[in-house]
Amino acid sequence: MARYRDAKCRLCRREGMKLFLKGARCFTDKCAIERRNYPPGQHGLNRGKLTPFGVQLREKQKAKRIYGVLESQFRKYFQWAEAQKGVTGENLLRLLELRLDNVVHRLGFAASRREGRQMVAHGHFQVNGRKVSVPSYLVKVGDVVQLRSTSKLGPRLDDNVNAGRGQVPQWLELDPNEKKATVRSLPLRDDIQIPVAEQLIVELYSK
Ligand code: SF4
Repeated sequence: MARYRDAKCRLCRREGMKLFLKGARCFTDKCAIERRNYPPGQHGLNRGKLTPFGVQLREKQKAKRIYGVLESQFRKYFQWAEAQKGVTGENLLRLLELRLDNVVHRLGFAASRREGRQMVAHGHFQVNGRKVSVPSYLVKVGDVVQLRSTSKLGPRLDDNVNAGRGQVPQWLELDPNEKKATVRSLPLRDDIQIPVAEQLIVELYSK
């Protein structure tokens, strides 16, 4: 299970916007975008205008970084999205949105997708009564995601939910007392509030 291990804030600075990769810190003035909003590296301040290819590349990188997915896995999601009916870009975002680590984050249980990934990988969640420790597990309509009864993460989940850093999307139905949620429907594009122009990703991969 490969993952990016270098400094997270560099990724936001490279994209020139907050990607909210670090949870609570992203909402403070310690955020690197608040302090140094220019690309990292020796030539960060001297980067020229982006080419059309560069614009497409940046959109793809942004999506990968928001969801914490590396290139080979992201390309697989794209191939699945292409094989599905409907609009490829929307299919791609929907697949990413249905990842279990993202669902845990969207429910407010985790302050960031990275935290959600760790919670899932450490076996704190079950889906339909069975333990699932694979962050990339894709939930389906009707699935019930719940904190396992043996987990000691309850107070941490309460803290994260009470911090209220985002609204639970309509396609998920949350029961905060039971620390469980039901997938009511598949997310629509309007439910996926991320600053990515998915059509540019489709154009990039279609070359
Ligand atoms: Fe990005 Fe959060 Fe770091 Fe700010 S604190 S640069 S939003 S990861």
